[in-house]
Amino acid sequence: MREIECRTGDWLFNAGLVGFLNIVGKENVRIEGQSLFFNAALLDGFEESYFAYFIKAYEKTLSWYKIISYKEEMERHREADFSDFDELSLDRLNDYIANVAKYYLKSSSYVSAYPLIDATKDPVEWGKNLAKVGQLKKKETFEEKRTEIIQNVKQVYVQLDEIIDFCQKGKKYLAAKNVIYTVIKNGWNGISFLNPQTKEKDCYIDYRTNFVDPVLEHLETDLEKAKFNCTTCNEPIKNMKLDLSFMNETGFDTARKTSHVWDFNNDIAVCPMCKLIYSCVPAGFTYVYGNGIFINDSINIDTLHAVNKKVHNEILHHSTDNLTSTSPYRALIEAITNQTEDKRHYELADIQVVRYENETYRFNILSKRALKIFRESKEALKTIQKCGLKEGNLNINFYQETVRRLMNNENLFTFIHKTMYLKVTNVSNTYYHMGHVGALLSINTNFLKEIEAMTDISKGQIWHINKCGTEFKKAYPENKLSGFNYKILNALKTNNRDAFMDIILNSYSYLGKAIPDFFLKAFTNDETFKTVGYAFMVGVNGPLENNENGGNKDEE
Ligand SMILES: [Zn+2]
Repeated sequence: MREIECRTGDWLFNAGLVGFLNIVGKENVRIEGQSLFFNAALLDGFEESYFAYFIKAYEKTLSWYKIISYKEEMERHREADFSDFDELSLDRLNDYIANVAKYYLKSSSYVSAYPLIDATKDPVEWGKNLAKVGQLKKKETFEEKRTEIIQNVKQVYVQLDEIIDFCQKGKKYLAAKNVIYTVIKNGWNGISFLNPQTKEKDCYIDYRTNFVDPVLEHLETDLEKAKFNCTTCNEPIKNMKLDLSFMNETGFDTARKTSHVWDFNNDIAVCPMCKLIYSCVPAGFTYVYGNGIFINDSINIDTLHAVNKKVHNEILHHSTDNLTSTSPYRALIEAITNQTEDKRHYELADIQVVRYENETYRFNILSKRALKIFRESKEALKTIQKCGLKEGNLNINFYQETVRRLMNNENLFTFIHKTMYLKVTNVSNTYYHMGHVGALLSINTNFLKEIEAMTDISKGQIWHINKCGTEFKKAYPENKLSGFNYKILNALKTNNRDAFMDIILNSYSYLGKAIPDFFLKAFTNDETFKTVGYAFMVGVNGPLENNENGGNKDEE
């Protein structure tokens, strides 16, 4: 059969290419730089590989998995002849019945899949017949009612056996329904199995007829006299029927756009092969709770695939139990800064980071400079991973905030100020100590050096300034410390070097001590002033012992 070539393109197409590679397996294609070659025979049964990829990649996050994974607990109790079945087990069972079994069995996406699994069975009815077990009345104890409860549990287990076995057997369709709505829908919508009016009940067939069959047909068509070309790959196409209006939020929505740009839809027809690649976009992104990330590092297809695979594994495998909103950022930085074997490559080019958040695509450029800062700040970044604070209903994570600012080329001073101020004034809902503020300062110092805003201060000096701060605190009267904090932080915030120096001079002369010379030498510019000032305040407000968590390892 024919060999097909696909070349890298814009970020969306590249996400599709990575997705396609994930689906068919890298071993089944040939990659040469920016080109991907494969035999058309690879498209036989592509719809099976398509769903299999999503189901495997996201298995543990699926509601299907919640249903069948309870089997393990059932087996355990049966093996122990229910001797280990206690009140907590009962709570878990009742919770499972109400929030998993009864809940999902009647949901419409499940219901529509039942006839495809076994038309003679009626899981909706099974769900209705399920009831919670042994609600204890007042004054009754679990132990008193134990025999009766276990009796009931055994009966419910028989019902659950039937339900779970059915769902196990129906994995192909039930899990497919899950990934359609939790994963695939993040990439595209409105056609094939995501068209609410589709007549085809089997999503596998629906995918094949919409995406795969047209490619095979296209390969058989004589295109000698074709008048049009695919917008993406420039291959000749026989008509302009296929467009990209099914892709989410990309500005390709011809149905809505034509009124504004009357000839717009003449420009964006694609060939069936490109359309199939675009349908793989959700397999190229990694999603957590509907938010996605894709790294468009398009030097070549190998790197494109490798870096996204790393992000994917960081997010979905390292942290299955702990999928927090910070994970995509952490995964991104770890995946990229860990590329030691490929260091040279990352010095060559900026990297485009595409995030899908709140149903919109957002773009960042991860500049060479930002990458260097992240690499140099690796240890400090690690220490602030779990740090955060709460402002009203808003949770701010140190890691996320830091990466966001550095990607936007912003320094961290206002954030350092906020975190230090909240700590000094003992505000609640702060989950960090002064050593972590020190880590922020150290990352910020790397940033300032990289943008050459501050070249005259070393990490060793910062550590020395921290230490002077701690010594100052030991000598200074405790009852005067909050006044001192307030005045100094205010001077730092308003960038008032004169006020700052006044307070420092007064305080040191109050102690009868000489003022450390870094105060006088280091005030060459605003950045140095703030860095010295906050470094001193980290020492004043945080015991230096904490610094082993917050400081930087590679101090000299
Ligand atoms: Zn094309």
